[in-house]
Amino acid sequence: MSELCNEAMKRVYHYLDGEMTWWRAREIRHHIDECPPCGEVFSFEEHFLKVVRTSLQEEPPPEILDRLREVLRIEGG
Ligand SMILES: [Zn+2]
Repeated sequence: MSELCNEAMKRVYHYLDGEMTWWRAREIRHHIDECPPCGEVFSFEEHFLKVVRTSLQEEPPPEILDRLREVLRIEGG
């Protein structure tokens, strides 16, 4: 994994939440277009966030809960 990959991974949530400056977002967009592994992670997270947001009224599937616990552990660590 390159330095850019680390950077992109660190910022995936900020990127998806639109919590970054446009030039940062553009840098990351550029990187994930060129780097398939990062692109995969980003589209997975994007899908994941979408599922979480649309299913807040319903009980989330177990794999989502597992994933959420994992994310919270990382964020909290
Ligand atoms: Zn990458």
